[in-house]
Amino acid sequence: MEIHGTVETIPYLCKRCYSCIRECPAIAIRVENGQAVVMQERCISCGHCVTVCSQNAKRINSDVDFVVNEIIPTGNAVALIAPSFPASFTHDYLKVPSALRKAGFKMVCEVAFGSDLVSPLYKHEIESNGKQTIISSACPAIYNYIEKYFENLVPKLAKIVSPMIAMGRYIKETYGQDTKVVFIGPCIAKKSEYCDEHVAGAVDAVLTFAELKDILSKTGISLTDLTETNFDPPLALTGKAFPLAGGLIKTADIPGDILEKEIIVVEGREKVEEILNEIQANKINAKFIDILFCEGCIQGPAVDSDMNYYSRREKVINYINDKIKATDKQVWKSNIYNSRHLDLGRDFTYRDMRVEMPEEEVIKEILAGTNKHTKQDELNCRACGYKTCREYAIAIAKGLAENDMCLPYLIEKLETAYKDLSETQEQLQSAEKLASIGQLAAGVAHEINNPLGTILLYTSLLKKELSVKLNNPQSIEDLDLIAEETNRCKNIVSNLLNFARQGKLKLADVDIYDMVNSIIKTVRIKPEFKGISISIESLLDDSVLKGDSDQLKQVFLNIINNACEALEDREVKKVNISLSRGDSFITITVTDSGCGIPKDNMNKLFTPFFTTKKMGKGTGLGLPIVYGIIKMHKGDIRVLSEIGTGTTITIKLPVNLQ
Ligand code: ADP
Ligand code: MG
Repeated sequence: MEIHGTVETIPYLCKRCYSCIRECPAIAIRVENGQAVVMQERCISCGHCVTVCSQNAKRINSDVDFVVNEIIPTGNAVALIAPSFPASFTHDYLKVPSALRKAGFKMVCEVAFGSDLVSPLYKHEIESNGKQTIISSACPAIYNYIEKYFENLVPKLAKIVSPMIAMGRYIKETYGQDTKVVFIGPCIAKKSEYCDEHVAGAVDAVLTFAELKDILSKTGISLTDLTETNFDPPLALTGKAFPLAGGLIKTADIPGDILEKEIIVVEGREKVEEILNEIQANKINAKFIDILFCEGCIQGPAVDSDMNYYSRREKVINYINDKIKATDKQVWKSNIYNSRHLDLGRDFTYRDMRVEMPEEEVIKEILAGTNKHTKQDELNCRACGYKTCREYAIAIAKGLAENDMCLPYLIEKLETAYKDLSETQEQLQSAEKLASIGQLAAGVAHEINNPLGTILLYTSLLKKELSVKLNNPQSIEDLDLIAEETNRCKNIVSNLLNFARQGKLKLADVDIYDMVNSIIKTVRIKPEFKGISISIESLLDDSVLKGDSDQLKQVFLNIINNACEALEDREVKKVNISLSRGDSFITITVTDSGCGIPKDNMNKLFTPFFTTKKMGKGTGLGLPIVYGIIKMHKGDIRVLSEIGTGTTITIKLPVNLQ
């Protein structure tokens, strides 16, 4: 089968708004690498994706160069103008024939005479076809659609050519087969029709009204400078009404009694889909169904008009009325009579483009992939271009759509990704800070540790000497203070060293429950923590994980100390520790009924030297050390706190750290 691409995407102009997908009845557009690409073999050439694309990212295959460079120069070109032209060339439409002659066409004829030729055939078909439903075949988008997707409707298509082909055949029959026929109209689908194997040869090129305007402006032809002239014969009569809603019925002059019951006129994409499915399901008994993809050809995607539907309609009707009055009916009749031997028949072929329906399981799996597990989850927001989430999932399963078109899911994913990213960034920043502070701390601690040792040593020597020689209790007390303060310095220094030494882990099996339990015992006996009830609950059979025992001890000691210190002025003094387990993690939460942490302080907790405790009590190194150790263990720490209620620290440690 020959695939004639009528519409294609201009690379990089598509911005993924999915409007074209929404508009395409044939599911013939898929997004590939961020571009909505027309799948030529599925496309029915209706051209609606072109009209809805605000970015002008859809290009209609143009015959402009071919017409200008190869057809007109033969001197044997005939232009066929579609009857909707007054809607496109609003002001000077009566000068269009002059313009085309000036552009080099030897004749300018009305396609509408083709309508006059085919409409009696429709009338005959309807009156003689018994109970069979006949579908009109004048609209190429419709018969393309049926040929590709509605197998059992193909035999119902009227085997009658469109007015364009009828007129093409008429011209070639009358003026010679080497005459070049160029159709000019509001329709994009006509570009696929003239290449159709069943009607090939009748028409040589198809231009849209916009393309004609382009040719006129490129060749410097302005309608205003021209005079009005009439079309070349044969002139049309009621066929001029073809582009209006129900135009075919009017032209064919079908009797009223048939009209009422047995004829259905359907126009516009949504109704078209509806009626075709109804006929397919054998729910329609009408004799004749006239279907147009647009609401009359005057709404064709390439009509290129600023007027709205009603103004276009009025314009065309006025034109028809004026012209019909002026047309010589006798001449018209004899023209029709003289064409009686013209072959106006054609065939249609089923070109199966349906894709087998995927299994229900596959659809469900795809839906679940975008967090749609129940019917309730299906928003059917149409942002992806499909009518429902389910239709979108089916299109993916059929290979007609790609993932990542579900906007609500993408937004959700983006939000999580953004959150993860900012968390990672924060962690990275504090890790960097910690690393540099660690280096500094190690250096300083090392330098200070030795002099502190010396101070302690000499203090105790002095104390001994003074107590023996002077027996001066005041001096002894002073020396004790020096020793105490020096020890405090040593404590800070050793903390700093701990902080700096986090680099390496000595991994071994650590029973977290046992470890936390023994820490609780040492904390309980501290006099300053008197009255605090510390409890531990474990949901674990096995609380062993791989970790560095000394470092993890530091973690829990610091956290439990902080919890107890937060209880200082509290009436209820409770610390609860609980152990639980996820897939490959052990989670330890330490909850206290303490003072809580103000919101402003939350992001400072892991900053070295941040403390809210009294001089001499806090160093502000506890949590930075904890943080460093947990990160070394590839774990995670989170703090939740409410002023006046308490704080919960949640630590997650992997079980099998390597
Ligand atoms: P330090 O205990 O020496 O002050 P940390 O790094 O251990 O240093 O803690 C820093 C600060 O975080 C504390 O001074 C305190 O303000 C706050 N903090 C830590 N844990 C708690 C808690 N359980 N309840 C209330 N505040 C806490
Ligand atoms: Mg602390």
